[in-house]
Amino acid sequence: MDIQAIRADFPILNQQVNGHPLVYLDNAATSQKPKAVIDTLVDYYNNYNSNVHRGVHTLGTVATNRYEEAREKIRHFIHAKSTKEIIYTRGTTDSLNMIAYSYGRARLGQGDEIVISPMEHHANLIPWQQVAQATGATLKYFPMQPDGTLDLDDVQKTITDRTKIVSCTHVSNVLGTVNPVKAIAKIAHDKGAIMVVDGAQSTPHQPIDVQDLDCDFFAFSSHKMIGPTGIGVLYGKEALLEAMEPMETGGEMIDEVGLFHATWADLPWKLEAGTPHIAGAIGLGAAIDYLSAIGMEAIHEQEKKLSDAAYKMLSEIKGVTVYGPAARAGLVSFNIDGIHPHDVSTALDMEGIAVRAGHHCAQPLMKQLACESTVRASFYFYNSMEEIEYLANGIKHAKEFFG
Ligand code: PLP
Repeated sequence: MDIQAIRADFPILNQQVNGHPLVYLDNAATSQKPKAVIDTLVDYYNNYNSNVHRGVHTLGTVATNRYEEAREKIRHFIHAKSTKEIIYTRGTTDSLNMIAYSYGRARLGQGDEIVISPMEHHANLIPWQQVAQATGATLKYFPMQPDGTLDLDDVQKTITDRTKIVSCTHVSNVLGTVNPVKAIAKIAHDKGAIMVVDGAQSTPHQPIDVQDLDCDFFAFSSHKMIGPTGIGVLYGKEALLEAMEPMETGGEMIDEVGLFHATWADLPWKLEAGTPHIAGAIGLGAAIDYLSAIGMEAIHEQEKKLSDAAYKMLSEIKGVTVYGPAARAGLVSFNIDGIHPHDVSTALDMEGIAVRAGHHCAQPLMKQLACESTVRASFYFYNSMEEIEYLANGIKHAKEFFG
């Protein structure tokens, strides 16, 4: 992979921050955008800005075609059976809420169980707390191993005949753990439960095949995969989406409306009320074109090299604790003895290195790790090995400065 050529496609990367070249290592929060995606957004607003599925005028037709073409690109990218299974949402949070409210609330009751993991982002945790409170269902957690992984024997024991929904992150945004969601889905299905996968941290970084995973729902965000913010996807098996009542009603999602009654449009539009983020959807299509041209396998390989190196380099620095398993996705969460994560992050920022410090929207996990927050460096295919070395040196400088 020619990293320098790739970096030239991302205008934002070519700048100085605090007198140093920017080293952007906050990709798990959001990724940067290549010129091809930015140009696609500008092209929409400059040349064919129109609402979709409404007018029959030329611009409206172009906008509608591009919007629906993007849906087909997404379908292909995650290997869904049909574009009916691809629902545009505002992002992972919106997708997971839609499942919790439209599917969960309508189907769960006293005695039913929802099972999630202790490493969930709040987006895959609070909606289930809310559903449990509203329906009387019980929220349960898989136990987590000390290295931040899930054990399939524990999974087997935690899912029971009363479990109706299992929801789990594919990749932890804090630990980098890659969860065996395909195996978990099999266990869930054997007990008659459905399987929801939070794909926010996996979809940008590895090939995804929802049919192979055999998950029932899969959620992800465009902005973490070089696409625009404000747009994401809910994948669902067609029969489940078909049976789901919409969470939102209004324009664009109807078939016929009378004074006291309305009927819904077909999938996927039934679950997409109101004017959507048209430019965002088309921009996500452009992001998928860009990622696919490089290849998700190649992206995965490049990031693996970066994260293996970062894990090794940071683990070797005295006084640095790295959280999570050695086999991990492209991010490293860590703390330095005696230095607050925010101070570490500020010190790194002074050297032009952007990392995130905080609880990473995973407060229950922080409790389990016995810390309030961590520093997280997260990588993408446009990061170089030199940047990982720069990070390791920055951490050593921070240690000296505060030590
Ligand atoms: N799930 C995971 C694992 C995440 O890392 C994130 C974002 O950081 C989300 C869900 C929420 O994504 P969004 O804010 O794009 O809705």
